[in-house]
Amino acid sequence: MSSFQRLIADHAPTAADLRNRRWIYIPYDRFTDRTGPLTEQSVQETGIVIVESTAKALRRPYHKKKLVVLISNMRHFALEQAEKGVSVLYHFSPESHGAALLHLQRKMQLPKLVCMTPAERELRLDLAQAIHDGLNLEFVTDTTWASQTDDFTKVYGGFKPGKAYVMDRFYRHMRQQTGILMHGGKPVGGKFSFDAENRSPYKGDVPVPRLPEFQPDAITQEVIAFVEQNYAHHFGTTAGFNLPCTQQDADTFWRFFLAHALEHFGRFEDAMRDDELQLFHSKTSVLLNLGRLLAMDLIRDAAAATDDSVVPMASAEGFIRQLLGWREFMRHLHEQTDGYRLLTGHVPQEQSNRPQEISPDQTTAAARAYPDNPFKGASPSALGASLPLPAVYWGAKSGLHCMDTVVAQVIDEGWSHHITRLMVLSNLATLCGFSPRELTDWFWFAYVDAYDWVVEPNVLGMATYADGGLTATKPYVSGAAYINRMSNFCGHCRYDPKKSVGEDSCPFTALYWTFLERNQAVLGHNFRMQMPYTTLRRKQPEELVQLRARAAQAIEQLQSLARPAYATDAEAATSKSHPAAEPQPKPRQAKPGRR
Ligand SMILES: Cc1cc2nc3c(=O)[nH]c(=O)nc-3n(C[C@H](O)[C@H](O)[C@H](O)COP(=O)(O)OP(=O)(O)OC[C@H]3O[C@@H](n4cnc5c(N)ncnc54)[C@H](O)[C@@H]3O)c2cc1C
Repeated sequence: MSSFQRLIADHAPTAADLRNRRWIYIPYDRFTDRTGPLTEQSVQETGIVIVESTAKALRRPYHKKKLVVLISNMRHFALEQAEKGVSVLYHFSPESHGAALLHLQRKMQLPKLVCMTPAERELRLDLAQAIHDGLNLEFVTDTTWASQTDDFTKVYGGFKPGKAYVMDRFYRHMRQQTGILMHGGKPVGGKFSFDAENRSPYKGDVPVPRLPEFQPDAITQEVIAFVEQNYAHHFGTTAGFNLPCTQQDADTFWRFFLAHALEHFGRFEDAMRDDELQLFHSKTSVLLNLGRLLAMDLIRDAAAATDDSVVPMASAEGFIRQLLGWREFMRHLHEQTDGYRLLTGHVPQEQSNRPQEISPDQTTAAARAYPDNPFKGASPSALGASLPLPAVYWGAKSGLHCMDTVVAQVIDEGWSHHITRLMVLSNLATLCGFSPRELTDWFWFAYVDAYDWVVEPNVLGMATYADGGLTATKPYVSGAAYINRMSNFCGHCRYDPKKSVGEDSCPFTALYWTFLERNQAVLGHNFRMQMPYTTLRRKQPEELVQLRARAAQAIEQLQSLARPAYATDAEAATSKSHPAAEPQPKPRQAKPGRR
């Protein structure tokens, strides 16, 4: 028995606890008692159920650090609640969350459970099936969000497939609705967005603060050993794990960013460096998406930080826009489109025989209830992209310094900042025509902050334009010039960003022009693409021939890279193996005097 199990066993419910307390199911991404059902009665009247499911961990070869941060926060949250006097039923199970809850409820005669409506579509489906099979569980509003479905409906009048949704409208509504950075009904500083001021490259202008690092305590060390033993075939590494796993550490992490990095966040938001991989980004996504930090708290803190004039408006507003705008907007789009399944019939589906997602054999009952496997990821491909994702995403060296650096960072940390995700990893995939679904699945397992509601809109929508323009008004693509302007990558690369043809030219540029040429029918009339198309039309036929040859050579070279052995092992093993779940602690005998 692990030391966590020994500790938590002391707080397992008595028969009286089971009868008399209100029982709340805590999903794997809602570790908060600052909002929601946990705030609605005293701790002595509260019981929580937490499921640690190996079936879920095996759905994809999730980054080992993601498993560690999630499981360790889960175990610490259970102990924190237990310390406060909450009765905790912590259940280890080889099954999916829904099946595990159903069996647990029957076995322990648990009364009705309540739970905040899960953020992940996957979990909603899984629980819906369990409810259908007899689980007594009621969903209540998830108050960790800064907005609700009503807000989306008010702004856009509902969802219609085929319509384009501009985030800015939603963001303005949310500013009005919350009063954040508003004065007398007008935006503070005279405008809603200061984005135009936030595009500087970073040249060592001000020192980059080092975010606090948290040495694994005994509980986290146990989780690391558990992950290494049971999920050895997964992506990435546990080495150097230093993320917050307690509420106190999560708060310390946030307050450090607020005091030391927010000031410069805006100005260098789009910058990239090979020697400062994080720059002034907050790295809060992992904690926000686990419920450890709440978006509205961060938004209020960031707005208040402008009061003393140390934090410029452009920084605070830029940060707030990411949370109050993009984060909320993305999750509404995901919900409204049922995970990007409800797009117009004009958006072609990717034609590919490759498996798109590992089949969830643990949830076959749910799968039977739908004509198609409901867990299979949506595969829109408005630009007809379908080439297999090459081995460079698994760490095979491509010689492109930007790609090799960012992929190495992802293998190491399970994280990279927004612009490297968008303008390096996804840019290359979009320009080459790699499968948007495969890219989505890669982001999903490779990043510590990835969940379906956020990774699918970002990759299928914002990054690859696979949804045909629902999420972004144009594809986010660029040649080498942008990467060279915004980073120091090109200075350390074997390819020349100033050349567009020839063996030593940076392939991003040739790929960019051939991407535009290849997609002229779909993108040529896009108002926001007129400038590059005008330049493309002025190119001489001989230059176009050379650009096509350079682009084809680059794609061929990327496709020829061999996948590291572990990449194939990870995919194969994930759908088959089921490490034994840790044994379930026995129900505790009532102690005299305990309510
Ligand atoms: C291809 C691609 C894949 C992405 N996948 C994910 C993902 O799996 N999970 C995830 O949380 N974010 C994802 N994002 C959005 C964004 O890149 C990350 O939220 C951000 O980089 C996280 O780092 P940070 O906390 O330092 O963010 P900061 O730069 O400090 O920004 C602050 C916060 O704003 C929010 N935010 C900013 N942009 C977005 C956005 N586009 N969508 C949703 N929230 C946003 C995040 O919660 C973030 O923590 C993705 C973006 C792209 C382009």
